[in-house]
Amino acid sequence: MSVNELLTDRHLHTTYSDGKNSLEEMVQAAIARGMQQIAITDHMPLPFSDECAIPKDRLLEYREAVLAAKKTYARQIDILLGIELDYLPQHLDWVQEIVALGWDWVMGSVHFLSIGDTVDQPYIVDYAENVFREVLEKGAQGDIRKLCADYYANVQALVQTGWIDCLSHIDLVKKNNRNNQFFNQNESWYQEMVREVLYVVKSFDVMVELNTAGLVKPCAEQYPSEWIIKQCLSRGIPLVLNSDAHCTEEIGREFERFLTLLDITSPASGERRSRDLTLINFSSPTVGEGRSRDLTLINFPSPASGEGTSTRGEHHESKKSTGNT
Ligand SMILES: [Zn+2]
Ligand SMILES: [Zn+2]
Repeated sequence: MSVNELLTDRHLHTTYSDGKNSLEEMVQAAIARGMQQIAITDHMPLPFSDECAIPKDRLLEYREAVLAAKKTYARQIDILLGIELDYLPQHLDWVQEIVALGWDWVMGSVHFLSIGDTVDQPYIVDYAENVFREVLEKGAQGDIRKLCADYYANVQALVQTGWIDCLSHIDLVKKNNRNNQFFNQNESWYQEMVREVLYVVKSFDVMVELNTAGLVKPCAEQYPSEWIIKQCLSRGIPLVLNSDAHCTEEIGREFERFLTLLDITSPASGERRSRDLTLINFSSPTVGEGRSRDLTLINFPSPASGEGTSTRGEHHESKKSTGNT
C-alpha cells in the first residue's frame, strides 16, 4: 500500500480564480498522483475589485463545471464541490448568500483585515512583504499586536458563523514574518490570541487545515506552526492535510514530510482512513478523530528555507508573476 493511495487534498485552485491550471488539468494531475479525493476550492467572488477571486458572474458556471467533473471522474477520484470563503465582516450578507448555495466542502479564510476605513477595499493580510509593512503602518499604526488582534478576531468570528467545515491557514498572519521580524510566536500575547481561537474552533466542531504552502513562503514553515498543531492534537481538533495548490505541480506538495511517519502499513490505520474517505459528511466528528490520531505520529523536520510563489497573497503574487512571465 503506497502513501499516495490514501491521499486527499481538499484545497485546490483552478483558473476559475487565481490558479494557473484549468479544472480539467488539476483533476487529471490529482488522479495521476494517486489522490483518492480532492476538493476544488476556488476563491469566492468578492464585493470589491480583486483579480484573484471567481468573477461573480462565473460562480454558477464554476459550480456546474465542478459538478460535471465529479460525475465524469467518479470512477477515478472523489471530487468535492468546494469554495474558499472569505470572512468579510462588512459584507456578511454577501458571504451568506454564497454559503447558501450549498457546498460539499467549505474552507474558511481570513485574507482581509477590518482595521482602518477600508470597507470597499479592505487591507490584505498576506500579500507581499512591502504591502504587509504598509498595512501595519496605515491600518495598525505600526502596532503588530493590534494587527494580529484584528486578524485573530476575524478568524474567531468566521468560525462562529458556523458556515465553514475547515479553517484554512489559521496563522496566515505570520506569512511575512521571516526570522521573526515582526513578532515572536513565543510571546504570550500572541499565543493567547491563538488559544482563544482554538477554544472556539473546538466548540464549533470545525477542522483545522495543515497547509503545506507556508513551507515556500517567507515564514518558511507550514500553516499552522508546530506548537499550534500540538495544541490542536491535544484538544482533539481534527487536522486536514492540504496543499493549497495553485498549479498541478503543487498538488500534494510536501505531504511526505507529514506522512512518512504515519502508520500506513497497519491495517487499522488504513481502514480508518478509507472509512474517513467514504464519510463525506464532514460534520461527523469521526472523520477528524481518525485523522488527528494519525497526525500524532508526525515528526517535524526543519522546514525548507527559501521563497516561492504563493495562498491569497500567494495568489495575488502568483497572478502577478504569471502576468510577468
Ligand atoms: Zn487557497
Ligand atoms: Zn487562502
